[in-house]
Amino acid sequence: MDLHTVEALRPAHTRDDLRLAAGETLLGGGSWLFSEPQPGVTGLVDLTAMGWQPWEITADGLSVAATCTIAQLLEPPAPPAWVASPLFRQCADAFLMSFKIWNTATVGGNLCLALPAGAMISLATALDAEAVVWTPDGGERREPVAAFVRGPGLTSLQAGEVLRSVDYPIAALQGRTAFRKIALTPMGRSSAVVIGRLDGDGGFTLAVSAATPRPYVFRFDTTPTTADVRLALDTVDEWYADPHGSPDWRAAVTLELATEVCAELA
Ligand SMILES: Cc1cc2nc3c(=O)[nH]c(=O)nc-3n(C[C@H](O)[C@H](O)[C@H](O)COP(=O)(O)OP(=O)(O)OC[C@H]3O[C@@H](n4cnc5c(N)ncnc54)[C@H](O)[C@@H]3O)c2cc1C
Repeated sequence: MDLHTVEALRPAHTRDDLRLAAGETLLGGGSWLFSEPQPGVTGLVDLTAMGWQPWEITADGLSVAATCTIAQLLEPPAPPAWVASPLFRQCADAFLMSFKIWNTATVGGNLCLALPAGAMISLATALDAEAVVWTPDGGERREPVAAFVRGPGLTSLQAGEVLRSVDYPIAALQGRTAFRKIALTPMGRSSAVVIGRLDGDGGFTLAVSAATPRPYVFRFDTTPTTADVRLALDTVDEWYADPHGSPDWRAAVTLELATEVCAELA
């Protein structure tokens, strides 16, 4: 939709260009920014003009730029040795109407929007990814994505901070994963997403998103039993309520999906 209050679009080419004036906001792919009125926004600063390489394989794993689109993330960044590769496609498919926004929506936009159904949030939390944040003093800070996303529409980003990239550690990329999603319609927004990851040392990670206002990550020394999972899920302080599902239903289906995930990886 047209944003009638916006008077200027400014491409950002350097870090200094990312300093926002009053009324300016950062533009990723714009799939959300242009989907609803943005009263108070008078200028857009285009992050995609920074020219960041979409993804890079490093000695530590995979570094994904905030401006990497969902489609670019599905290019083959993961060598076959990364057993977790299929999870990237499974999470991309979890977007509402998925492929229609793959070429526009960015990984960073998805994390910064912090919707409970953020498919890139599910992916990043299940694989222990870290958010790399540029701070206004010219520095950088790192934080697990599971902590970066605080609630619906809420992240740890402070004024002047920009999400630069999302780093996936190689150890997590080498884990076996199992993915389950439920939605009220076949291509609908996720009501619950549960991802399990079994590492080479037997350690098990269970990531829950969409069913809760923020992502939850539970750790186990071995693949948990249903009783273990139930105990872990009992610690969730709030189940999300919106038109895509009631809290009690979400809690019940999450247990069911988690049980399936554990059985698949056992
Ligand atoms: C058809 C359709 C289906 C969708 N389905 C889903 C879905 O299933 N799940 C879901 O979570 N969302 C969904 N969305 C919402 C949204 O499109 C996605 O979350 C998308 O990933 C947002 O990315 P973007 O690059 O387009 O963000 P933008 O719209 O450009 O920006 C979103 C917000 O993030 C800020 N931002 C962007 N990048 C950065 C950065 N690097 N640092 C700091 N702030 C930044 C912007 O200022 C803005 O506030 C959907 C949208 C559409 C149109």
